[in-house]
Amino acid sequence: MDVSSGLRETDLDDLAVPVAGEAAVRCAQVLADAGMRVTRQRLALGKMLLLGDHRHVTAEGLHEEATAANLRLSLATVYNTLNQFTEAGLLRRIAADGIKSFFDTDTSVHPHFYLEGEDALVDVAGGLAFSKLPDPLPGHEIERLDVIVHLRRKRP
Ligand SMILES: [Zn+2]
Repeated sequence: MDVSSGLRETDLDDLAVPVAGEAAVRCAQVLADAGMRVTRQRLALGKMLLLGDHRHVTAEGLHEEATAANLRLSLATVYNTLNQFTEAGLLRRIAADGIKSFFDTDTSVHPHFYLEGEDALVDVAGGLAFSKLPDPLPGHEIERLDVIVHLRRKRP
């Protein structure tokens, strides 16, 4: 069996990653707490996502942001890293329109507005209440309710 063919870009880039600066140290701790090895990519993107206010990002949007910050990361690397963060429980993936996934740094279950045509996902402030939930199928229980309220701009 050829194990080298299974190595991904992130696996090849994690030797002696310098963790310099207060944000990098905090980010490395967040990664370690989630059971993740520290790699250059995870550190760079983690600093943008995991240390500040809650955010909703797409791989494309974060890639643009990284490029603007002179971080040379491919879109595929950004996407892979977002998926790894999600698998580690640091992000929650939200499929808003069937094509594009958003990644939420708030991993709790909470309702969202999706702004059609503006490519934005925002939290619904103040929560949401339902007066009638369906009975679960026999042998099942309701695990969670993912709510996305789709908005569009009013025509003037
Ligand atoms: Zn959210």
